[in-house]
Amino acid sequence: MSVNKEMYQQLLAELGQRVILVAVSKTKPVEDIRELYELGHRDFGENYVQELADKAAELPKDIRWHFIGHLQSNKVKYLAPFVHLVHGVDSAGLLKEIDKQAAKNKRVIDCLLQVHIAREETKFGFDENELKQLNVADLQHIQLRGLMGMASFSDDEMIVRNEFRFLKKLFDQYTNKFDGRHVFDVLSMGMSGDYAIALEEGSSMVRIGSLLFGERNTGH
Ligand SMILES: *Cc1c(COP(=O)(O)O)cnc(C)c1O
Repeated sequence: MSVNKEMYQQLLAELGQRVILVAVSKTKPVEDIRELYELGHRDFGENYVQELADKAAELPKDIRWHFIGHLQSNKVKYLAPFVHLVHGVDSAGLLKEIDKQAAKNKRVIDCLLQVHIAREETKFGFDENELKQLNVADLQHIQLRGLMGMASFSDDEMIVRNEFRFLKKLFDQYTNKFDGRHVFDVLSMGMSGDYAIALEEGSSMVRIGSLLFGERNTGH
């Protein structure tokens, strides 16, 4: 139950100045988060709303909380007052709800559109067509910052690489597509098992859990 500090330093060196490390702390105790916090880390990712809200209540207020899971519309209200970046926005309806809750909190909430790039059917996200049809002109309280994707769980490096490459292509294509408020600057791709490939393919934000905090023993 503690952080791999050597790995943390190694990752920071590897990522350099341009790539942001989101430390994925899901299922891990607040003590682990505190350990990284003490080293100066501020970006943490969680994928369950209740868990994130509970941890945020206990921990310092200058932590930047990233919601990286599948967000249900009826739970947006719990995160809206403070969430830093919502990675997994996968429908127009969800975007609308985030806009509504952001307005209630007098905030603009940064969002990444999740794109379905993996072969697995279970992964959420927009496909290319849905992305094309997305209209955000009426949403004044969300700010699109970029795209997020999860590659297939595969030992075949070429499969993973091609999926990331496809996402980067979409990212470049969409960076100026929405109105001028929504210039893309974040491409969230890469996890413990595939971040090195993601970096080579142009990631600007990696989401890393088990390399830092050790394996998780539950199903998520
Ligand atoms: C759990 C999770 C991660 C981190 O996974 P690791 O393999 O532990 O690095 C990254 N992104 C999402 C969306 C996750 O759910």
